Amino acid sequence: VLFNKYQELKGNIRVMCRVRPVLSPSEGDAAMIGFPDEKTSAQIDVTGPEERTSLGAISRRVLPFEFDRVFPPAVHNEEVFGEISQLVQSALDGYNVCIFCYGQTGSGKTYTMSSPDGMIPRAVHMIYDTITKLKEKSWTYTMEGSFVEVYNEELHDLLTPGKELKRLEIRHDDVRKQTTVLNCKTVALDSPDKVEIMLGEAQRNRTVAATKANERSSRSHSVFILKLIGENSATHERCEGTLNLVDLAGSERLKHSQVEGERMRETQNINKSLACLGDVIEALGKGSSHIPYRNSKLTHLLQYSLGGNSKTLMFVMVSPLEAHLKETITSLRFATKVH
Ligand code: ADP
Ligand code: MG
Repeated sequence: VLFNKYQELKGNIRVMCRVRPVLSPSEGDAAMIGFPDEKTSAQIDVTGPEERTSLGAISRRVLPFEFDRVFPPAVHNEEVFGEISQLVQSALDGYNVCIFCYGQTGSGKTYTMSSPDGMIPRAVHMIYDTITKLKEKSWTYTMEGSFVEVYNEELHDLLTPGKELKRLEIRHDDVRKQTTVLNCKTVALDSPDKVEIMLGEAQRNRTVAATKANERSSRSHSVFILKLIGENSATHERCEGTLNLVDLAGSERLKHSQVEGERMRETQNINKSLACLGDVIEALGKGSSHIPYRNSKLTHLLQYSLGGNSKTLMFVMVSPLEAHLKETITSLRFATKVH
């Protein structure tokens, strides 16, 4: 079921919550999904315009959170994609679009964004189909992809093997409101299988870059950047849009007392860049005159895809496990702040 409520939403920023399912019987025992009975009357309510999910009975108070949409655990990626397909279309129409997955490690960010069934391959396939149809209307599109990682406030190219890496630099074209990353590999995505090859390449380079690739990926932000340039041979119209699909670093708060040295710096950088992202989106939502893009590498990179007439969607991902409750509440509060 799709809910056609875009018109009534304020501005160009939307926030949706996805609750991942319980994955195993042992998790089932530790889960807090469900509607607690009325007598215990304590729960976290996560609601959208048309749906509601309640998490656990942990306090006497009800903690209500409201978003543009909530995806309960049973919802599949296909239906989630139904919500973003309009944004993908906007990128084809010449808008800059950012879609983020925010949440603690294990909450389903990578599953939603970059799994074989996730938003990245679905978006690319939808774009191919649309581009093919648009050919009949004299539109020719090129689609170029790049894939970068922000780790410790440094930008890395995920499509170039480690030993060939060059220093990446962000270049903004303030007139065209477009961004290029110098020295970053871009891949012409001119057939549907190229996106799978590209995702595989990024995965390999990640693995080479760090022995504990999964751990590393949960501590870095990965940004898949699709540049879409269309030209109409009949009318000579031209449009240039960018679709950024961002799998954010795990939002869990590591206690400073538990980490030191390199991990400490990492932790501080993650906390800082996620807080900066929150500040930027909040400032945009309030219509502030100063938007603090420069306070982190990620917001600097995405400057022209956040704000202006660009469109932003944040998925806040939460786990159904009671053990994750505190992080769940922290994530929902973050999402409320940017909403
Ligand atoms: P994150 O990237 O936030 O750390 P993952 O995407 O890796 O989390 O998800 C953690 C685990 O949960 C993975 O095994 C993933 O396959 C599984 N998972 C997450 N969301 C779903 C879902 N909606 N349906 C089925 N499995 C899921
Ligand atoms: Mg992940």
